Amino acid sequence: MSRASIPSSPIEAIAADLDRTVAGSFAAAKASGDPAEQPACRRGCSFCCYQLVPLTVLEAQRIAAYLATLPRSERRDLGQAVDRQAKRFASWVQESQPGSIQDRRTNLDYLRQRIPCPFLGKENECRIYPARPLVCRGHHALGTSENCQTAAAPIRVIPAVERATTTAMDQARGLTGAMGGTTVGGLISTFAPLFKTALQSGK
Ligand code: SF4
Repeated sequence: MSRASIPSSPIEAIAADLDRTVAGSFAAAKASGDPAEQPACRRGCSFCCYQLVPLTVLEAQRIAAYLATLPRSERRDLGQAVDRQAKRFASWVQESQPGSIQDRRTNLDYLRQRIPCPFLGKENECRIYPARPLVCRGHHALGTSENCQTAAAPIRVIPAVERATTTAMDQARGLTGAMGGTTVGGLISTFAPLFKTALQSGK
């Protein structure tokens, strides 16, 4: 299996739909010419990669399938990053006893810990970009990404992208339920054992 190919699954259609909405909305925002309405997102900006990242079981399985295709040295490196993040996440849970992940205070507290996503590369790139979670595909900021780092003020977004992201995540949960799986999902650290297994497989 080549690095770029991921086993086909229904979750890919949901991700592709969301990608199309994001691309169309970003193109329209850029065409407006208004600097305040331009998406601030670009390769190398990783402010959002220090947040709690919710994902469904199907998304986690898709990531695991992608991880298994990576070269051995990269898998070893990512395995260490998955361990590091899971350890720091567990310490944070123990010390902070956080509330619901829907809770703003919980999210802000996690953001302040500066715990990077295990898939964030040295040059602030996403190392699982083709298989990244739905929430990562839709997350964006208009004008400036400063508020992504500090959360001092609300992040301005394109409402159509926000709605499409919520819909995509609902669809992913519905799909998981229809396939007989749990619709609860989790955070990246929840799936650390699945990712480790995938990283230890392959050639
Ligand atoms: S999966 Fe990729 S885009 Fe999403 S938080 Fe991790 S590094 Fe960032």
